Amino acid sequence: MLTDVVIVGGGLVGLMTAERLAREGLDVTLVDRGEPGAGWSGIGLVAPALDGAAAPPLVDLVDDAMHRWPDWLVDADLADQLPLAAGVLAVAESPFHRQELERVRPRVERRHPTAEWLAGGHLAEAVPGLGRHIEAGMLHRDAQRVDPHRLGTLLCASLVRRGGRVRWGTPALALDVRGDRVHGVRLPGEILPGGAVVLATGAQAPGLWPEGAAPLAWAAQRWTTVLLDGVPVPPVAIVGRGRLVAPLDSGHVALVSAAEGSDYRAGASAATLRRTLDAADLLPAVADGRVVAVEAWLGPAPVDGLPLMGGWAGLSGLAVAVGADGHGLTLGPLMADVVYALLFDIAVPFNLAPFRPDRGEA
Ligand SMILES: Cc1cc2nc3c(=O)[nH]c(=O)nc-3n(C[C@H](O)[C@H](O)[C@H](O)COP(=O)(O)OP(=O)(O)OC[C@H]3O[C@@H](n4cnc5c(N)ncnc54)[C@H](O)[C@@H]3O)c2cc1C
Repeated sequence: MLTDVVIVGGGLVGLMTAERLAREGLDVTLVDRGEPGAGWSGIGLVAPALDGAAAPPLVDLVDDAMHRWPDWLVDADLADQLPLAAGVLAVAESPFHRQELERVRPRVERRHPTAEWLAGGHLAEAVPGLGRHIEAGMLHRDAQRVDPHRLGTLLCASLVRRGGRVRWGTPALALDVRGDRVHGVRLPGEILPGGAVVLATGAQAPGLWPEGAAPLAWAAQRWTTVLLDGVPVPPVAIVGRGRLVAPLDSGHVALVSAAEGSDYRAGASAATLRRTLDAADLLPAVADGRVVAVEAWLGPAPVDGLPLMGGWAGLSGLAVAVGADGHGLTLGPLMADVVYALLFDIAVPFNLAPFRPDRGEA
């Protein structure tokens, strides 16, 4: 019987998975090559896939994941400790964009009964000060926002409380594969054994793929965020075409530009920075804000836009939970459930095939 698991990656997905497995009584060791908190960032929206062009399997998956959050907070004993702020407004920035949002509107209203389509005066009343080019929008009252750093901190504490171990500054160099089974991971100077290994390695995931595996086409995506001070905080996050303005718990307002394909260079380019600042078009008053920080991250993204969840055909003892791109926080509890189900051979209540990590070998 499986009793111990090694998790590689202490981002939010790895931590949610580690917490889930430790809660089930497994002996969990999490290793991360970085320092605590490096990846616990972002805007913290627990929200649907708001882009009308998102792939249908992703849209359904993110919806399911979002609806799991309230129960997950209770199960993880976090409901009292993690205040959630509500509301996301997906706005149409052009007639074409409006058509796109209207196309998905029936589905959104079916899956999110509290969502409301707003136009004209109703829109201006719900969120005053929107850019004049904004024609209409869908207000998602059931979408929520959580502080990612606080979430990461709480998950670490909870993992340790449940007997788990966390080793920061510890790079995994390779999987320890013998025959058709993964027995652990190779660290500098030692092999860390595990009844199963979970890869939650974010953008760097292909570095630990099993030897000889045909790689799925993969891109790191660079996200850029500009934090502003001294401006009124909008009541909800405003998501436009590839950019957004969001209130943060710190009292700052964040401008974010959508991910762009990139190599693994760190930092924001001048071009991305300009595009990110342009997000103030969504709520022009924030353009007067004082820039207090510019942050750029690499997000993991298979080029087919779908996350990777599952095992590798012909190799036991391995589960993968990566590639969530801009939805990692929302998808985390669902990915953790999938990993748990895989390790214990429990059926998953939806079709995992589109998300298999070895789909590149088909
Ligand atoms: C600007 C921005 C805004 C976002 N907003 C939202 C949002 O509103 N809602 C939402 O749901 N999601 C959002 N996201 C996405 C979400 O933050 C990410 O999808 C999520 O944090 C990814 O988490 P992860 O655990 O998969 O990967 P990561 O956070 O990248 O963690 C992977 C970890 O693995 C470690 N690692 C990698 N390789 C190794 C190795 N060989 N050995 C040891 N350790 C290793 C790394 O050090 C890293 O800590 C946003 C992201 C960005 C950038």
